[in-house]
Formats: sequence, C-alpha cells, structure tokens
Amino acid sequence: MSFSGKIKEELVRTVTLPRHCQLAEMAAIYDFCGKKSEESDEKMVISSENELAVRKFFTLLTKTFNMNTAFKANTKGYDKWGANYHLEITGSDTVDSIRSAIRVTTETMRSCCRRAYIRGAFLAAGSVSDPEKSYHLEIVCQDERQALFLAGLLLSFEIEAKTITRKKYFVLYVKDGTSIVETLNVMGAHVALMDFENTRILKEMRNTVNRKVNCETANIGKTVMAAQRQIDDIRFLMECDSYDELPSSLKEMAELRISYPEATLAELGQMSTPPLGKSGVNHRLRKLSQAARSYGFDVSGS
Ligand SMILES: [Zn+2]
Repeated sequence: MSFSGKIKEELVRTVTLPRHCQLAEMAAIYDFCGKKSEESDEKMVISSENELAVRKFFTLLTKTFNMNTAFKANTKGYDKWGANYHLEITGSDTVDSIRSAIRVTTETMRSCCRRAYIRGAFLAAGSVSDPEKSYHLEIVCQDERQALFLAGLLLSFEIEAKTITRKKYFVLYVKDGTSIVETLNVMGAHVALMDFENTRILKEMRNTVNRKVNCETANIGKTVMAAQRQIDDIRFLMECDSYDELPSSLKEMAELRISYPEATLAELGQMSTPPLGKSGVNHRLRKLSQAARSYGFDVSGS
C-alpha cells in the first residue's frame, strides 16, 4: 500500500469524540465531496472515487445524528476515474439539520475542530509522497476560496502551505519534512508520523555518512598533496650545493620524508632521533620548504 493509503486507513479509524469535531470533519468531507449539482432541499449527495472519505462521512453521520441512511457503492456508475461511491441523505428536515449543524461548526471553529477539518480534507483530497523518495504533501482544492480557507486553517498551526494551480484545481502543498510531520500531527495520524520520522532519520543518517566519507576523502587528498610538495622541495634542496650545510636535524627529516612518502607527520616523528611530536615534524618540514624557496625553488611549478 502507498504511504498515502496507509495514512488514510489510519485517519478513517481516528474518530475524535466531541460532536463539534465530528461535525467539522463531516463539513470538510462535504466541502470536498459534496455533489452540489445533484442536490436539493430534500437531498444531500456525497460522491467520490475515494471510498474511505465517503465511508468516514457515513460513520460520523451515524455518530452525530440518529437516522436511516442509504449507503451504497455505485457499481453501475463507472466513469473514467473508476467507480464512484455515493452516499445519499434524503428528507428535508434531516438534510436541513445536517446542513445547518455543519455550517454552525465551520463558522465557529475551535482548534480541535480545525484539526478535524484538516483531517477530513486530507482524507477527501490529500496525498503524501513516500518519504523515501521526496517530501511532498498536497490537498487538491476545487476552487481558490477552498484553498485559502484550508491554508488559513493550516497557518493557525504555523504550517505554511503554498498554492499552485493544476488544470482547473488549486493545489495546496507543503514541501519540507518538518511541516509534513506537523501536518500529520495536526490530523492525528500518529502511526504515519512515526513511519515518516523513522524514514527521515535514516535518510539523514545516510546523507551524513556520505558527507563524512566525502570529507575524509578530501582530507586524505590534501595530506597527499602536502606530502608531495614537501618531497618536491626536498629533492630540489638535495641537488643544491648548500644542502650539506643544513643542520643535521633538518637533513634527517628530509631523508625520512623522501624514504617514507606516505607516512603521516606523527609517524615521521616516531622515526626521528630523538622522537618528535607532530608540531616538531611540521616545523622542520616547513623550514625545509623555506630553505628551498630561499635557494630559488619556484613553488608555482610553472
Ligand atoms: Zn472540536
């Protein structure tokens, strides 16, 4: 199952208890899946190719109102997107009470209800990419008003969503991992949140290891280059008449460097008599390079 599919399965099972929250979630599903063109004063229609959203609306309906509803998967009405699932609610009193309950809730939304609304909207029209591949969460809105409303709700939880238009739709999306985690948290998708975080941590560890390996390779490269420069300087010096005049401590270091081109500074220090620390070795090698330069060795190597 896709990552989105798993989140939605989890969200279908997540039912918050207060009636106001249940109504807010119904309001969201109705906003995204209400089939206004088929509706009248006596009929409400929820229709979507997304069975989970329709099923959740039905569950919430039976919890918030005590009524008989006709829930059927419309297996006859295939269209090019596949089967649509329909939920029809009939009777003018019933329809009227549901519509007004939903309206009142969305007009006075507390924080708990805003979470429920975002959950309903995601269930109806949302998706998240597999975090292994990329970080992307989106909710496809029917129009700009819907997108702005939803963006406002997300912003009340400090989640900044951006909007792009795709064909006739307004797509609200979130691109960074932290904001996606926050959105999952707001919706109450806690299992999905843990999955997402685990993947994110593993991915970042892999990146850190790669970065470290690259960095170490670069450092080794620098050490090799430095040793090569020292060896060039020493070879030049050895060909000069004045090489013999150098102090014996420097000549010893010069010969060690030439004999052990791959040795580290610490290893050269251990081979010296008496043994030297790294800074002592470094000091002598620098003196040798300075001597080469004072005898006219051109370091630019042109
Ligand atoms: Zn609430």
